Amino acid sequence: MNYKTKPCIESVEKAKHIVIVGHENPDGDAVGSVLGLWHLLNNMDKKVTAVFPNDAPYFFKWMPDYNKILLYTQHKANIDKAFEEADLVFCLDFNEKRRVGILESTLTSCRATKILIDHHPYPEKFFDIIISDVEVSSTAELVTLLIKKCKWTKYMDYNTAECLFTGILTDTLSFTVNASRAITYALSSELLKYGLNNEKIHQQVFNSYTEQRMHLIGYAIYKKMKILPTYATGYIYLTRDELKEFDFRNGDTEGLVNYPLSIKGINMAALFLEKKDFIKISFRSIGNIPVNEMMSTHFSGGGHKNAAGGDEKSLSLSQTIEKFEKMLPLYKDILKRNDL
Ligand code: 5GP
Ligand code: MN
Repeated sequence: MNYKTKPCIESVEKAKHIVIVGHENPDGDAVGSVLGLWHLLNNMDKKVTAVFPNDAPYFFKWMPDYNKILLYTQHKANIDKAFEEADLVFCLDFNEKRRVGILESTLTSCRATKILIDHHPYPEKFFDIIISDVEVSSTAELVTLLIKKCKWTKYMDYNTAECLFTGILTDTLSFTVNASRAITYALSSELLKYGLNNEKIHQQVFNSYTEQRMHLIGYAIYKKMKILPTYATGYIYLTRDELKEFDFRNGDTEGLVNYPLSIKGINMAALFLEKKDFIKISFRSIGNIPVNEMMSTHFSGGGHKNAAGGDEKSLSLSQTIEKFEKMLPLYKDILKRNDL
């Protein structure tokens, strides 16, 4: 951790009204880190508002006080007011302001001090204070570390710990990726000491499928997965009609992109989902295959070296897949190498 905690401590001490904002289509780390920090600041008796552009998938909404989060899709006026009144804004789990989607202009015009806490590469200069570390497993891990460094541990409680632990658990896919640093476990262990029930958390996040979601996954893997051994790559693609057929709910395809990576010899996986106005793309990889660079070079989006997301607005599903297959030969050598 090579940043100073002093500006962060001073900003919090001075602040009368704090806003915490996470990225669009919040994942477990976004919800866990935002809500964890929200609980902590509440325990400090700060006036604090947690905000997201839109709702999270159903299997993250059990986190304590999720219903206190304001969503821009439902509480536009209250959120605009909160940003106007705020003297400090925490921006969590994203590196560019456009990742807040429909909230971007509100965040851009906000005059409050903006503190970024994040683990994506290349954070934008937009933020006043940048606490960014690509080595950490998750933003929730970085928030946990920051709490210790700022000596705020006395404001921690069960709810704070449960949210932060869930953020770490989800971004590491239950400690299977980005989870080779001892400190991730040391900090998780400190969180568990608040009396957390790992099985209960795991159950609520990973074992809360609807029957339809299970069928969708089975169908996608059986009928809609293509393996390209030449490029050590596998991908899955689903049309809008197929998603509708399986009664798609927000979050149902979360994790689907990872399945091709379970095949021996597959080093990169992709998922293409046909949405109303665009094709949603996810890339995952192992080792030194930089899927964030592939995404930002060939499509619109970015992310981490081994996990990137983006979209394609001008091509159809089949055209997007064609473009993807044409891209692969450019990376053939990297894709075939397994650096683990
Ligand atoms: P997912 O495939 O789960 O949507 O996204 C994987 C990761 O890529 C996310 O954790 C996030 O870090 C990043 N990501 C997703 N969508 C975007 C996007 O549109 N732009 C950028 N820059 N990063 C994204
Ligand atoms: Mn994250």
